[in-house]
Amino acid sequence: TDIFLPDRKNSRGWDLTERHTLREIEEQRRPYMASDFRAAPVLATETPGGTDRKQHNPARKDEVVGTVTDADETQVEAALSAAAPWEAPASERAKVLRRIADLYEENYGEFFAALAREAGKSMNDAVGEVREAVDFLRYYASRAEELRTPPRGVFTCVSPWNFPLAIFTGQIAGALAGGNGVLAKPAEQSPLIAAIAVRLMHEGGVPRHALQFLPGDGATVGAALTSDLRVAGVAFTGSTHTARAIRRTMSDNLAPGAPLIAETGGLNAMIVDSTALLEQAVRDIVQSAFQSAGQRCSALRCLYVQEDVAEEFKEMLFGAMDELRVGDPWHLSTDVGPLIDGEAHGEISAYVEKARKEKRLMKEVGAPDDGHFQAPCVISIKGIEDLGEEVFGPVLHMATYKAEKIDAVIDSVNAKGYGLTFGLHSRIDNRVQHVIDRVKVGNLYVNRNQIGAIVGSQPFGGEGLSGTGPKAGGPDYVARFTEPGLPDLPT
Ligand code: GLU
Repeated sequence: TDIFLPDRKNSRGWDLTERHTLREIEEQRRPYMASDFRAAPVLATETPGGTDRKQHNPARKDEVVGTVTDADETQVEAALSAAAPWEAPASERAKVLRRIADLYEENYGEFFAALAREAGKSMNDAVGEVREAVDFLRYYASRAEELRTPPRGVFTCVSPWNFPLAIFTGQIAGALAGGNGVLAKPAEQSPLIAAIAVRLMHEGGVPRHALQFLPGDGATVGAALTSDLRVAGVAFTGSTHTARAIRRTMSDNLAPGAPLIAETGGLNAMIVDSTALLEQAVRDIVQSAFQSAGQRCSALRCLYVQEDVAEEFKEMLFGAMDELRVGDPWHLSTDVGPLIDGEAHGEISAYVEKARKEKRLMKEVGAPDDGHFQAPCVISIKGIEDLGEEVFGPVLHMATYKAEKIDAVIDSVNAKGYGLTFGLHSRIDNRVQHVIDRVKVGNLYVNRNQIGAIVGSQPFGGEGLSGTGPKAGGPDYVARFTEPGLPDLPT
């Protein structure tokens, strides 16, 4: 299918190099700098209850960002019994989704502030989040207009904290575009951002019964929303481990044909050969491994550099890393913000300490110690076979390889069973083609960074342990939320 829809444009975003744009951003987000955000269950029928919890700023541990009320059992039951598909015709659904996209752009100041304060997103990342969310809304609106298949019913959408706005919005917009009702469960770490999104979706015209919001943890709220026969399918982004648990719950409780649309983890590699333009490779590696503090499932984890250029390369990479500014994401100059919370910080710093003891820590840069900051670092390994599960932070593993062993490198990456992103820096055309043909991966990037897929032009998603497909931001995503092979619905 043609993925370039002529009637649709991606968000213009915000150019952080323009002085007047920066001034405007400052003004727009200022009212939300110190205010308390609030999230609570939003249900079709008023049902009091729930338990309050405070959210803290990962960059300033003492700062309370707001309060979330987690849904209780009665509220989950109320949501399940009121949930129903969105009966509006596709043209109307598309109109509403486009209106929500406009509302997102108008309310960007609130989003930027919440993204920085609740999720530790740098300004650059916050821009990316709002843009991607807007793109999902507009792109799926266009797909809705082309649909020939009816909704499945009600979808549960379980979203991750690392893209608390973009992925949260993408899953919901996909399900709504298909005409389904949605039960949205945001990550425990980022309900305040999600609550703003839900408010704007209702304001834009999505009826209450078609979108209910249930903050809470995975073990209770998540489990209840993925194990009830009234749910027709589940969209999930998160760890491979959790995706497997959801799959088991679904097969025990939901209809046998209920789809699980999952985007999961990766163990993403990049190869830099001796013909690569090293300056460019370094820039792309720094972005791929350390942007968003490495908290992207697309991030580069395992770098292979051809032995012949390894020394020169290392010097350049380590020099570039010294320029990284790790700190409070509120400041424009910050490149790398904090990890999401103390638990993540504890695990990742223990992992880095172990590497230090084993004398495998090759490089580490400074980081402040007041928030959950992890210093970007490089750890030496022999190859990807040394790695267990992905380390979800700014930790890059590096190995060298001999030119004649390139196929063995690719095979060892494939053998891990993941298949999300892969990067290649090379200036030899037939080598590029050879790698493309051999590597098993969802998104392969040549001579550029390997993060930041663009809705509509770079559909994103993996194979193997990395996800079920169809890719997010791609032509087949919305259709997966509908019944295949059924006759046209009247529109
Ligand atoms: N789509 C994002 C990217 O291309 C990654 C999504 C994720 O981390 O789940 O960088």
